Amino acid sequence: MKVYTLRSKKEGLTRLVVGGLHGREGAVTKRVLERFVRDGRPRSGTLVVVPSLCRGSEYVSTLSERYLETREGKALLGLLKHYRPDIYVEVHCYAEKAYKSLTSSARLDKRGVPKLVELEKGVLIGSSPPRLLSTGLFKLGITVEIPCKGRESDDTLLALLRVVRDQDTIDEILSQLEAIYPRQVREAIELYERYLDYLESKGIVSAPAHAPRGEGSRRL
Ligand SMILES: [Zn+2]
Repeated sequence: MKVYTLRSKKEGLTRLVVGGLHGREGAVTKRVLERFVRDGRPRSGTLVVVPSLCRGSEYVSTLSERYLETREGKALLGLLKHYRPDIYVEVHCYAEKAYKSLTSSARLDKRGVPKLVELEKGVLIGSSPPRLLSTGLFKLGITVEIPCKGRESDDTLLALLRVVRDQDTIDEILSQLEAIYPRQVREAIELYERYLDYLESKGIVSAPAHAPRGEGSRRL
């Protein structure tokens, strides 16, 4: 597992970007995330990039209770505990046939998590898996899915990651994303807030695991 740490001399946010969380998706995320590492360092704070958490392993869904027991799940938890990032972004890839279920409103009933929202070119975003949210080890968690096949989504993913790298605060990151993708980002935030209420009502996430919501503290 390669870990790249890019630091600015100026204090600021810690951003952790992890690709390839299970199965063979690492080959795809590695290609784009290595490019992102070469693209430059943040203007403030720290950027930690793990282009591929695993080299190819059994596929255990990150939504599964079992995921954090796997080798890569444990490595991920170790990274989160070590860096305690302000922002945590995980990057997956999906097979074409999974698009429908990932973006379907029925996903909450079927998988226990809200649907993902498409930014453009097949790049989907949503919040972090509930088990990770409940650790309280990061403030803003974003899950990104790109198509495993083709490279049309590479530039969209890179543009998204540059926003995460180049803005100085979480609010600026969300505002910037909202300026580029107003409808999509608003929908993703709305889905997330409703989901947090749902998790709280089930006792999966307790209130202190995330800051109070409202102006200035929106989370995804
Ligand atoms: Zn995945």
